Amino acid sequence: MESKKIIGSVTLVGAGPGDPELLTVKAVKALQAATVVLVDDLVSQEVIALADRARIISVGKRGGCLSTPQEFIEKLLIKEAQEGEQVVRLKGGDPFIFGRGGEEVEALQAAGISVVVINGITAGIAAPTGILVPLTHRNSAQGVMFITGHARPHAQDPHWKSIGRCAREASITLVIYMGIKAVNEIQSGLLQSLTENTPAAVIENATTAQQRQVICNLANLSATITEEKIRSPSIIIIGNVVRAQAVITFENKRMSADSNNNCSNENIETPL
Ligand code: SAH
Repeated sequence: MESKKIIGSVTLVGAGPGDPELLTVKAVKALQAATVVLVDDLVSQEVIALADRARIISVGKRGGCLSTPQEFIEKLLIKEAQEGEQVVRLKGGDPFIFGRGGEEVEALQAAGISVVVINGITAGIAAPTGILVPLTHRNSAQGVMFITGHARPHAQDPHWKSIGRCAREASITLVIYMGIKAVNEIQSGLLQSLTENTPAAVIENATTAQQRQVICNLANLSATITEEKIRSPSIIIIGNVVRAQAVITFENKRMSADSNNNCSNENIETPL
């Protein structure tokens, strides 16, 4: 059946964490039907290649370059939709998890454009699964918190002491996005509430050929990241759920370090 252009429509598509096989069927269909795709830089080339009849517009933020301003992205989405294109806004992971998807939906609706959002697997789910960490194993956790390692500009950073207390008192696993740059503050704040031997894992480039991971504990989290040169994009997981499976699975890998170096200077930690 010939696909008709739907004037004034944009689909926000979650590209998942990297492995193209983790895309949803809906995401694949949307990409194949798209005539224009606006794409972030954490999205893998294999996923982008699925949009084989689309014009690809990169609006990424990597490489120390200035990001494409959010306002510009929103205006471009509106313009392309108004011109009758089948627009896909392709975002890493899930569009509504630290992805600014909410802002884009608001802008599109304000312009009278209808929006559909297709979930992707967020990195905070895919990364622990890849190392067999069950985020809510009932022996160790009653819930999970997805939290950013730092606030948006001019806003207050997360209060790690309170978050640690919540994790301890309510048995909550912490899944920290964009946490590499601020790992020193995260570690020292959480240590005001959580014990030094609280298990931690860091997974870099989860689900891609470049994936690396370390298992350590809260007391040596920052040092381990430095020692192992772990960079963004990485997910940090804190909590007892890290212990069992992950340690067994990765017991032959280098897992921890005791140096007291500072954190890495990665800066690619802006929500996409
Ligand atoms: N919307 C995305 C998150 C964007 S914020 C999602 O749902 O996954 C960018 C942060 O996501 C990175 O700093 C990192 O913490 C995390 N991230 C994204 N892709 C990742 C990957 N493949 N491996 C590890 N972390 C990843």
